[in-house]
Amino acid sequence: LFARECTFMQGASGLDHLPEASLTEVAFAGRSNVGKSSLINALTGRNTLARTSNTPGRTQELNFFNLGGRLVLVDMPGYGFAQAPKGLVEKWTRLVNGFLKGRSVLRRAVVLVDSRHGLKDSDRDMMKMLDKAAVVYQVVLTKADKLKAAELDAVHARTLEEIRSRVAAHPTLIVTSSEKGTGIPELRAELASLA
Ligand code: GDP
Repeated sequence: LFARECTFMQGASGLDHLPEASLTEVAFAGRSNVGKSSLINALTGRNTLARTSNTPGRTQELNFFNLGGRLVLVDMPGYGFAQAPKGLVEKWTRLVNGFLKGRSVLRRAVVLVDSRHGLKDSDRDMMKMLDKAAVVYQVVLTKADKLKAAELDAVHARTLEEIRSRVAAHPTLIVTSSEKGTGIPELRAELASLA
């Protein structure tokens, strides 16, 4: 699947601008700066693809990528800005929650968590939203190359324990580094099984 071409379809800043639901979709969530664009680029083997979604003004959009006509990857806007204005948070919630609740073709969410930080309350809020929307999610640790082995082991164990206590969470935890390519084949295999 990931040998196929991946192309940018469109961005959607509102629920009335979503592309037609046809192919199975996987949505990517995470705090701003978690490494979401880098991971999508590493998965698809393209290094310009998800940059589109990082250009200012597009940060509050859902961005849709068609992977080989088989699967759609949805890059959701990042969360966790400490001093985000209330209006922006409300807009984010309306867009993301509305999408998660109403999207029949959405099979899985991938929740990215920075290895250096572990799960934060904003991630727990995201997981609660996914629980309520009945979307199964897979937690993925990013930037593993930034930690020493022992530190990585500790955050892995801590995170795994917490996600195993959550009903809707997929029970595996994938450790990745977009920089080094760690965990990328594993995550590709997981996503390919959904297409
Ligand atoms: P996004 O805001 O979640 O899309 O995050 P980006 O993909 O733009 O990454 C944020 C920053 O983290 C950038 O400076 C990236 O170069 C860096 N980054 C992303 N992934 C990795 C990784 O696997 N290892 C390291 N060392 N840095 C990374």
